[in-house]
Amino acid sequence: MNIRTWETWFARRPSVASKPRSELRVGIPRVLNIWSTHQFWLGFLTALGIDPRHVVFSGDTTEEQGRQWGRGRGVVDCCYPVKCMSGHYGELIFGQKRKIDILLSPMIRSLPSVLNGHVAKSLACPRVMAAPENIKAGFMKEKDVFAEAGIRHVAPLVSLAEPLLAAKELHLALRDVISGLRPTETRKAVEAGLAALADFGDSIRARSREVLAWCARGERPCILVLARPYHMDPGIGHEIEVDLQAYGYPILWGQYLPIDPDLMNWLFGDDITSEVLRSPFDIRDVWPSSYSGNTNEILWAAKVGARLPWVTCVVRLTSYECGMDQPTFTPVQQIVERSGTLFFSFQDLDATKPAGSVKIRVETIAYYLERASADIIRTKKERMTAPCPLVEAASRGKLQSSASEA
Ligand code: SF4
Repeated sequence: MNIRTWETWFARRPSVASKPRSELRVGIPRVLNIWSTHQFWLGFLTALGIDPRHVVFSGDTTEEQGRQWGRGRGVVDCCYPVKCMSGHYGELIFGQKRKIDILLSPMIRSLPSVLNGHVAKSLACPRVMAAPENIKAGFMKEKDVFAEAGIRHVAPLVSLAEPLLAAKELHLALRDVISGLRPTETRKAVEAGLAALADFGDSIRARSREVLAWCARGERPCILVLARPYHMDPGIGHEIEVDLQAYGYPILWGQYLPIDPDLMNWLFGDDITSEVLRSPFDIRDVWPSSYSGNTNEILWAAKVGARLPWVTCVVRLTSYECGMDQPTFTPVQQIVERSGTLFFSFQDLDATKPAGSVKIRVETIAYYLERASADIIRTKKERMTAPCPLVEAASRGKLQSSASEA
């Protein structure tokens, strides 16, 4: 018979920290800023020795997910993107064939951004930042659901825009759940995660450039979507851009616009020469209080869309009562419309898709695009003072390939 001593009586229960890293299963709710940083988390955890097949992201947001897994665990928050997190938590806790050991729900404080160094800060929305603790409360109010399921809820405050600080924050939060975690390896894992995120961003930007070059070669119009990262979630953005794409217009997202120097110089070179801007990523001319990462990117992308001739229409998506987006409505609309580009916004997006009104508005957008695009492209091109690098690079490529064939 085991005799209990003081040490064993007060010893901690066997924890996930006793599991080998290769066996740990980590669940991450696919919500909020995870939509723009997921590659960081995958790269970071893999670098720490966690099998990438054991990193489980919850599914896209659906009403069914909320009903099945999040019911009765509501939170006091008017933002639907935050509210719907309960369903994601529930899916990870109750809906897995193989139980997860850690529910990693980072409270992302600041974000990596191509604008960092050109703006004041890249902070996350405070509601987004606090959401993991907020949602956790819904799973603790009657009993500790995490403890009962043998899952550790880990919600580190993470400053992803400051890698050294992020490494400290993550080490502090994870050293109790990942066996033998050392500060140096956490720092290297943060570097690996940021490199994976940068590679992913580069590949999508390269794809966006190809789309723009295709438009430029054929004088074809495309649509730019300005929204927060989580509007890519079909359950939150309601796939409005997919409905538009069905009319044959390529879609670009503001977060993934190309940033190659030749293109940036073509778009912003004159303003830099005349000292209106310090760099292509300078947004002080339109948004002096540049503290919010996602807001900064929306304002910058509006400027890019206003200048790019083949972006003939900008579509703005915002969620119900978004306090972060509210002050940006007028500046974004003015930036876009003053360039002659069409502007449409879908505001107050919520849980339900108003399918009928979305359909009518999508038809209206397609009608205006059809009627006005050719004139918009011509007028915007006339404003440009140098040859377009998108067309030049494409014809250079063609010349080279025909020379090598010959
Ligand atoms: S809807 Fe707006 S206020 Fe609400 S979490 Fe999103 S960014 Fe923040």
